[in-house]
Amino acid sequence: MSLRVGQGWDLHRLVEGRALMVGGVRIPHDKGEAGHSDGDVLLHAVTDAVLGAAGLGDIGTHFPPTDECWKNAISRSLLRSAMELVRRAGWECLNLDCTLVLERPRMWPHRDEVISSIADCLGIDRSAVSFKAKTAEGLGEVGSGDAIEAMAVCLLKRRD
Ligand code: MG
Repeated sequence: MSLRVGQGWDLHRLVEGRALMVGGVRIPHDKGEAGHSDGDVLLHAVTDAVLGAAGLGDIGTHFPPTDECWKNAISRSLLRSAMELVRRAGWECLNLDCTLVLERPRMWPHRDEVISSIADCLGIDRSAVSFKAKTAEGLGEVGSGDAIEAMAVCLLKRRD
């Protein structure tokens, strides 16, 4: 069986006047991610992980922020498109593990919705998606609530 692993990472500033998007889910908060698209830091890390595992570059290769057509793009659509590229290249996703680092708000109440949203974008079962959230213990820009960071690891299997 041919397997490939990929990792993704992203960080965005948190600013007032923007929606906080996590894994395609809008989370009530007084700040949201700055960014060219909807700024969904978790989905950007997941997108990089699946593209990276397939050796297909990264989110910036396929959806460049310099291209006006991606302004305010919905990151769920970007991830779906990336997963379609991965599928066409002959790969399917076995599982995904991701971690969000933010000081607040608490993610636990939104955990199920985030997992369902990501699983839906990847076309895999919820049981194959893991989502964890941690704080930065008050350290750095993430710790002061001025930034949000995400990491993801994805495993792909060659389709028979
Ligand atoms: Mg990003």
